[in-house]
Order: sequence, then structure tokens, then C-alpha cells
Amino acid sequence: MISAPRQVLQGAVAVGLALFLGSPPALSQTLQRKVHFANTDISRFWSRTFRGIGRPWRKPIAYEYRSIAKTPCGIAGKFNAIYCLHNHSIYVNVPLLEQANYQAGDFAAITILAHEYGHAVQNQLGLSRLHRYLVQEELQADCFAGVYAQDANRRRLLDPTDVQEGYTQSYMSGQNNFHPNSHGTRRQRARAFYRGVTHGFRACLAYSFLR
Ligand SMILES: [Zn+2]
Repeated sequence: MISAPRQVLQGAVAVGLALFLGSPPALSQTLQRKVHFANTDISRFWSRTFRGIGRPWRKPIAYEYRSIAKTPCGIAGKFNAIYCLHNHSIYVNVPLLEQANYQAGDFAAITILAHEYGHAVQNQLGLSRLHRYLVQEELQADCFAGVYAQDANRRRLLDPTDVQEGYTQSYMSGQNNFHPNSHGTRRQRARAFYRGVTHGFRACLAYSFLR
């Protein structure tokens, strides 16, 4: 993602529970700036999209943590990212973002955040109840992440490789073997992201009705 103005993750507090010995390795400032910008931008994107369908958007609170985080949905562990519907909050593990950034690029890290926003979208649209299998809910969140990538790309916020980075991240997040209660296979997750990129918001709604 192209460097953007410095913004602070709204409402963010460090909720890591581990004791740091010495100073913790910081999320590289550049990546941090991009992630914080994306956090604001993704929410604004969904705010616009919701306005377009006549629904109110309530911004989730995003927390970043280094070790583990206590949430109303249980403990969020290392290399994890979750959306908790009990307090409408997103928790992202900083080492997970750093790893994605290292392995696939900055927009891979942003795609992790965008996926969690996808769950916030599902919750607010009442879509979560319409999935028969967990896998459909997860693929829909991947699809919504793709929709954001498409929009950010149109607004010229992205580098030429960013969409591919999101695709790679979705692929790497998948599992090798299919199980209806998993998050989907590598291929399914990458395709879901791509579906969002190419077909937009409404195409992602199909995951709520697929059987
Ligand atoms: Zn998910």
C-alpha cells in the first residue's frame, strides 16, 4: 500500500498480557502507519457501502496486541486475528501482521485486517446466522476483504502488486484439506478473495445462501 497519512488506530490499546523483557520489537513504523491508515480506510469504505444499501454502519474497535489478548470471546492467541461480536471489536496480533508483511507484502497484512472487518460486516447485516457451515462464513469474509481491495485499488491507494499480495495471503491462510467447519482450503480462500475483487459486494452475499 502506498504510504498514507499517519493515523492512530482508533480506540486501540495494547492488551498484550505477557511481560516484555527489554523493549519489544516494534511493528516497523512503515507497516504500522499503513495498517493504521487501512484501519480507518476500511471502516470508511464500509460506511459508504452501508449508506448505499440504507444500513447504518457502526465502526468496530480495533485492538492490536503482541502476545495474547483477553477478549469477551476468549483468549486471542499469538498469530491470530479475531472479530468478537460480543463487543464488536477486532483483535489483531502484531507478529501475525509482521509475518504476513514479510512473507507476502504489506497488503497481505492489511488483508488480514480486512478479513476481520468482513466478519463485522456479516454481524451488522445479520448474515452470520444464514451460513450453514463455518466455511461459508469465512469465505464470505475473504470475499469482503477482496471487495475492499478492489475499492482501494480504484482509488489508487494500492501498488501494482497489492491485490496479488491479498490473494497470496488468502491462499496461505487456507488449509490443505477441506472440512466444512474449517476456514476453507487454500484454493477456496484465494478464489473467495478474488471473487470480491472482480465481482464486488453483492457477489459475496451469495455465500450466505450457498448450500
Ligand atoms: Zn475469519
